[in-house]
Amino acid sequence: MKDRTTIPTREAAGTASVSPAGSNARKVFVKTYGCQMNVYDSQRMTDSLAEQGYVATETPEEADLVLLNTCHIREKASEKLYSALGRLRKLKDERAADGREMLIGVAGCVAQAEGEEIIRRAPSVDLVIGPQTYHRLPEALTRVGRGEKVVETEYAIEDKFEHLPAPKKERVRSRGVSAFLTVQEGCDKFCTFCVVPYTRGSEISRPVSQIVAEAEKLAAGGVRELTLLGQNVNAWHGEGEDGREWGLGELLFRLAEIPGIARLRYTTSHPRDMDDALIAAHRDLDMLMPYLHLPVQAGSDRILKAMNRRHTAADYLRLVERIRAARPDIALSGDFIVGFPGETAEDFEATMRLVREVDYAQAYSFKYSPRPGTPGADLLDHVDEAVKDERLQRLQALLTGQQQAFQAGMIGRTMDVLLEKPGRLPGQMVGRSPWLLPVIVGENPGEIGDIIDVRIIATGTNSLVAEAVAAESASMALDSINA
Ligand code: SF4
Repeated sequence: MKDRTTIPTREAAGTASVSPAGSNARKVFVKTYGCQMNVYDSQRMTDSLAEQGYVATETPEEADLVLLNTCHIREKASEKLYSALGRLRKLKDERAADGREMLIGVAGCVAQAEGEEIIRRAPSVDLVIGPQTYHRLPEALTRVGRGEKVVETEYAIEDKFEHLPAPKKERVRSRGVSAFLTVQEGCDKFCTFCVVPYTRGSEISRPVSQIVAEAEKLAAGGVRELTLLGQNVNAWHGEGEDGREWGLGELLFRLAEIPGIARLRYTTSHPRDMDDALIAAHRDLDMLMPYLHLPVQAGSDRILKAMNRRHTAADYLRLVERIRAARPDIALSGDFIVGFPGETAEDFEATMRLVREVDYAQAYSFKYSPRPGTPGADLLDHVDEAVKDERLQRLQALLTGQQQAFQAGMIGRTMDVLLEKPGRLPGQMVGRSPWLLPVIVGENPGEIGDIIDVRIIATGTNSLVAEAVAAESASMALDSINA
């Protein structure tokens, strides 16, 4: 349990209480950093504030409340936060000089990790709220309105799942035909480089009934593709509607029954939680898209052990083999860290070998940098920065080559694409391939939400260009790529 604190340092202003939408509606600007779960959380915070009469705005200058939804994964997260807060303080001072109030809130994983320290270092901040306490946001703002500085980082995640408002149909519609749905939060794996177990807490699964209810609401609002989210999404488990214990595989089959939902995805997975039922879902459930993000981080057993990944490179390769046997066209994506303390040239070569063997369609790779509070931060055998740079360059060259080959291999293939939004040129649409890549389709191929057959005719940078099957020309799509 973390702290829940009130710091009574501000005169009661009475202006932060939520007010109804309309011409005098208060405006909230939410800036999201980091992962998809933060995107989801930001949407839920906006929904929760909308229930209280706040309307969303696109700029901090217009906002009565600015919320920074922070991420602690990348290097120098706190420094970046404090420099953003410095800029906001100036804005807040300008607003105060005009006799108007602007409240500043910090949410997300840095809020969880730093708590009260944020208000000590940046007194212009009114509210610090951790990722498991967003459902208390309206109440916290009322307390801010009474003149309190509020720190809400105590977490009881079941409360959050229970009390977050269900998304309203109109808001779902405005967000498009693909949606995130959090089914699991937290992590018990304690990889030695990672802050997530400390900022998001223990693994917890959302009950089936809540997940199904939210998925039905999303489908009713026009959502066709659902991406289930969790820090360790494939650790999700719970009592199924048949009274048996379900894992993610069973949950996916259940969600596939919801009318309107046509595609399912999930992210992010841990190799140790890929069970037989989930692999079978990749074989038997066509709606489960053939794309899987399955981080491994390193290819050396020595380094995997030091990272506390609790699997070997051979375990991972065997798993990949089983998944590919179940779904031969699956595309794999991965995460890699180079230069973990103690990584030798030989260890790094083991990572390169693993990457060659798996052949990734997409990957994220980073140089190791210690995160305060993690066991990795205490390790002393640091790899020289220049060596890390050189290794990262080599790894990224290999991964980029694999990614380009994967995309080039799509040319000439016919596939179904979910149309998500208009393209840059009139009549053009941007859709999503089963393998997650954006696809630009010309010549009025259909409406947003349609799933149409297309033929891939070219690749762009991280996108594909296609013609609707039966369409005569894809010149518009090509023009936009060449523009
Ligand atoms: S599995 Fe490891 S890397 Fe992933 S969230 Fe948990 S501790 Fe972090």
